[in-house]
Amino acid sequence: MTKLWGIDLGGTKIEAAVLKSKDDPTPLVRKRIETEAAKGYEHVLSNIKKLIDLVAEEVGEHPSIIGIGTPGAIDPPTGLLKNSNSQAINKKPFKKDLEALLGIPTLMANDANCFALAEAKMGIVPEVDPKAQVVFGVIMGTGCGGGIVVNGRVLNGKQGIGGEWGHNFLDASGGPCYCGKTGCTETVISGTGLENYYEQLTGTRKRLKDILPAARSGEDENAVKTLDRLVHFFGLGISTIINVLDPDVIVLGGGVGNVDELYTRGVEEAEKYTFNPRLETKIVRPKLGDSAGVFGAAFLCE
Ligand SMILES: [Zn+2]
Repeated sequence: MTKLWGIDLGGTKIEAAVLKSKDDPTPLVRKRIETEAAKGYEHVLSNIKKLIDLVAEEVGEHPSIIGIGTPGAIDPPTGLLKNSNSQAINKKPFKKDLEALLGIPTLMANDANCFALAEAKMGIVPEVDPKAQVVFGVIMGTGCGGGIVVNGRVLNGKQGIGGEWGHNFLDASGGPCYCGKTGCTETVISGTGLENYYEQLTGTRKRLKDILPAARSGEDENAVKTLDRLVHFFGLGISTIINVLDPDVIVLGGGVGNVDELYTRGVEEAEKYTFNPRLETKIVRPKLGDSAGVFGAAFLCE
């Protein structure tokens, strides 16, 4: 049985995991070290190698191929990493340099794709729909990412932007996005976008986790408006995915993905905008928590 090796490269931590096999994805080893991104690109590369060597010692063998979950995506024509919030590796030939250092091939996908793959392979999807063919995984947190899995494979796309619904236009009221456009989904329904909206209404900055209870109790009408905004625009935004991709299952990860109302009122709202008399798409919470990224990276090697 071939073991599956994965690395999840984050802004602060690098995590490695080895799964027993694709048919029995029991984690054999998991290990984390600091990324130390401030020390620069070469240092991050050598930290990844260091981590793999440490894990190899425990497992008793080195990998012959390894999956890497990255912040951002490899730009197919140039081979450079793009759209990454980690400045140390953005616009660098990360895949080529890492393969040269490790002496083995790597398979790379962004963190939202790895999340979707892990939940599709060994997370919530096999529980709720073992026959699912198309899975859309969403990470709604400070930003808004997404990944598509079809028949157990990540759909990276021609330009490496498959699943990036966070930068679909949703509503002009979201204002400017860091990507240079206006009204992106991320500006409207990410945690940051919702906190900005509440601040515009009240002049006060509050965390979403403090806004939500005030909305549920009804004590703060602007908090109610903020939650209503999330519910409405989540339904509208996700309906565009449903109409195009018609996935079997949608998994909602990230801090905002945890908001209970998405699974009740949010689903009803999505149904209003979906091109079907009823909504059969399963919209569910993830199962794997923080581990999804590194497990998904390992499954890239399947
Ligand atoms: Zn954008």
